[in-house]
Amino acid sequence: MQRELYKRTYFNEGEIPKWRCPTCLTGRLTLHEKLFVADNAATRRDINEDYFDAEQISRVFTGALCCANCGETVVFSGSGGVEREYSHENDDYEWVNYYVPRFFYPALKIIGMPEHASIPKDMEKAISASFSVFWSNLDSCANRLRTAIELLLDSMAVVRKVNPNVTKELTLHQRIERIDSVQYPHVQQMLEAIKLVGNDGSHDLGQVPREDILSCYEILEHALELVYPPPSKTPLIAQMAQKLIDKSSTRQ
Ligand SMILES: [Zn+2]
Repeated sequence: MQRELYKRTYFNEGEIPKWRCPTCLTGRLTLHEKLFVADNAATRRDINEDYFDAEQISRVFTGALCCANCGETVVFSGSGGVEREYSHENDDYEWVNYYVPRFFYPALKIIGMPEHASIPKDMEKAISASFSVFWSNLDSCANRLRTAIELLLDSMAVVRKVNPNVTKELTLHQRIERIDSVQYPHVQQMLEAIKLVGNDGSHDLGQVPREDILSCYEILEHALELVYPPPSKTPLIAQMAQKLIDKSSTRQ
């Protein structure tokens, strides 16, 4: 996960972050032509008034990003304004346009999925849904990550009910406690952390910090690697070793 790319909530004109293409996952997205930018109605109405300060400028923008590797086009949009920034070049403060992305389609993939394993489609869908709302609603994003770990537990064969004949389901906390900590060391702790952030998101108070969501993504990416480890190289290496042993014995 390239955390740095998702830490900042805004970008300045001419400084599009090096976002990765959501389709080929390798190409870098670059701006296709210029952004379409428009002041909002209040700004247009008040901009020439004496009391109006440049920092009150409020805008919307939309644009398209292209991948030079696979040719994918991603549309994005959001809000913007201007801010004063110190310019080392001119040794003075100057006004700089800034833009806050709030939507991407197709959604940027903040973390990768294990490539060597076939992971459950419903879990992948829940993680993708979290990518879609990351830019616009962090509470909802946290909530979708919580759903993803419920589905991850399903794929780890952690039951939802102690007894199939009862209606009452185990809580997410109880299910996490049932993870085999010998087979999956630290995964309990990792999923518990995502669950807690997800719970905060459920209250929909707009209080889940972006940093915490990024930590959840980093933790989830690692947990997926632990639950879906790459295939062991041991059989292949053992075969290679045996060939050398056989070769040596024929020389003797
Ligand atoms: Zn691409």
